Amino acid sequence: MKTSRWLGLFCCTLLAALTLRAGAAEWNLVRFESREYVTLDNIAEFYGFPKPPPVDLTGHFAVPPVGAPAVAPAPVTPVVITPPSGLVTTVEKITDEPSPISSQEPPPAVALSKTIVLDSGKMQIEVTVGLREAQINGVKHWLAFPVALHDGQVLVSRLDLSRIIEPNLRPELIEGMTPVTTVVLDPGHGGHDRGAMSKFGFEKDFALDVALRARKLLESEGYKVVMTRATDVFIPLDQRPAVANTIPNSIFVSIHFNSSSTNADARGFEIFSIAPRGAPSTNDSGPRERDLREEPGNAVDMPSGALAGSVFHALLGHVPMVDRGVKHARFAVLRLCTQPAVLIECGFVSNNAESTLISSSAWRAHVAEAIVDGVANYRVLAERKTRPKVIADYRRAAVTGVNLRDTATP
Ligand SMILES: [Zn+2]
Repeated sequence: MKTSRWLGLFCCTLLAALTLRAGAAEWNLVRFESREYVTLDNIAEFYGFPKPPPVDLTGHFAVPPVGAPAVAPAPVTPVVITPPSGLVTTVEKITDEPSPISSQEPPPAVALSKTIVLDSGKMQIEVTVGLREAQINGVKHWLAFPVALHDGQVLVSRLDLSRIIEPNLRPELIEGMTPVTTVVLDPGHGGHDRGAMSKFGFEKDFALDVALRARKLLESEGYKVVMTRATDVFIPLDQRPAVANTIPNSIFVSIHFNSSSTNADARGFEIFSIAPRGAPSTNDSGPRERDLREEPGNAVDMPSGALAGSVFHALLGHVPMVDRGVKHARFAVLRLCTQPAVLIECGFVSNNAESTLISSSAWRAHVAEAIVDGVANYRVLAERKTRPKVIADYRRAAVTGVNLRDTATP
């Protein structure tokens, strides 16, 4: 495997700083198909995850079944035994250390999976060889490039490490986050642009309703709120982020509903922030030339990513919908916004069950509350540099009846 030292080669100051903080662990870059990667073993070592099990040539990990002790296989040496028939045969026998598994119990079957979960108790990452989907601390995140397999090593792109994994595992170290005093709410579409449609109504009206409910809640919690539209009017796309760009210490939250013309089963929540420079948009199948362009929104792509994660954990933690993931795009409202910005897709009007939910004002009120909790979650991170709550915190609080809003708002 060709490796080169991370230090000295990697121009990103963030990861240079990380390397200094890492102390014991060093980053080794692996070049593969003209892209730079780090190994999963390297990531595990850096963040203090248990060492991943070995991967086979087809990209499968040997994953012990749930509850089985994680034990590295003992060395295997061939031994010769003579069966009663007199025929000599060779079998494999496990030698060395006695297994912690009782000899009375059959050894657990080992499942083969292309997915591996790294769990330190405090943090969790799940990656799958060949896929761009990863789970980080309980929600789906879309990587820029598929997890690769090369030379017996599982590889994660350097860009995904620095722009997705690191800021989600250690969000308190993200730089450039400013306090949040104003929330710019951007209900999608409006006027002649009706957006998607269900038998119950138009996306533009549902989005405006959720935004107006969120405005009320945010104002009651002391935020200033500016709406890109508060009525059914058409606002050109470039004028929407321009509203936030003139307001210091603001964040931009665009609210939409989703639709699929080809898949009536498509459902769930997803959230977008600006794609980092060099990363394909999640909905593109591969890199494009425009991915290399520096967009105005790239100046805040780390805070925007943190806002997306904070809001998405709250959203899914409060409203049990399918997790379609934290995604990246170059939508005009994200590209042109120089304040932290996200676009939320609050379910599918093209899905029967979800369009019924979306038509319910009580359900939309619930979504608005979850978005407001997500904003509070980001505000705590931005202003106190403490970790935002994750989906499990919200779900636990729902079970125990704790009001997280009381604790989340500074
Ligand atoms: Zn829309």
